[in-house]
Amino acid sequence: MILAVSKDIDESNFIDFVTNPGSFDPHIWFDVKLWKGAAKTVAEGLKELDEEYASEFDANLERYLGELDELEEYINQRISEIPEDNRVLITAHDAFNYFGNAYGFEVKGLQGISTASEAGTSDVSQLAKFIVERKIKAIFVESSVPRKSIEALQEAVKAQGFQVEIGGELYSDSTGDAGTGAETYIGTFKANIDTIVDALK
Ligand SMILES: [Zn+2]
Repeated sequence: MILAVSKDIDESNFIDFVTNPGSFDPHIWFDVKLWKGAAKTVAEGLKELDEEYASEFDANLERYLGELDELEEYINQRISEIPEDNRVLITAHDAFNYFGNAYGFEVKGLQGISTASEAGTSDVSQLAKFIVERKIKAIFVESSVPRKSIEALQEAVKAQGFQVEIGGELYSDSTGDAGTGAETYIGTFKANIDTIVDALK
């Protein structure tokens, strides 16, 4: 059985792929509200496979949705530590547009949505200019994109006479490794929030 976890989410929630018209930005897991919908779809799929355990699947879903409620509280409470003007998230690729919409961040990715393409030099200098103008404190490396692209951006900012920190590494397209505390969806999201808030507050 193959299950598309986004199949029951209304399309109006999806963000268009600017660089690839006609398709949607896939990074829906960065909006916890949408991920709750995915959890419901998974529970329904499991019940179809194994009706005998339907009540267990329902109970587990309820418990997990409660954990996601707590996660949302954690996210909102931590974000409130960042002054509103500082809520700008700059990362290596365009993974955080759902995050930005859901939690009130202006989001800029150095390259497009895919982790395969490379950022051009004009992308780097334009974004560097933006960072200098807005006096952005920190930019972020992503686990799925080579570190050098963000380091090149940091260098370009330096060349324009401003200092921007690398605020740490964010998980974008995968969870953390076992034993890091970020090996679950919730652990990964919390690790990202802590990294973002600690660097931008
Ligand atoms: Zn991605």
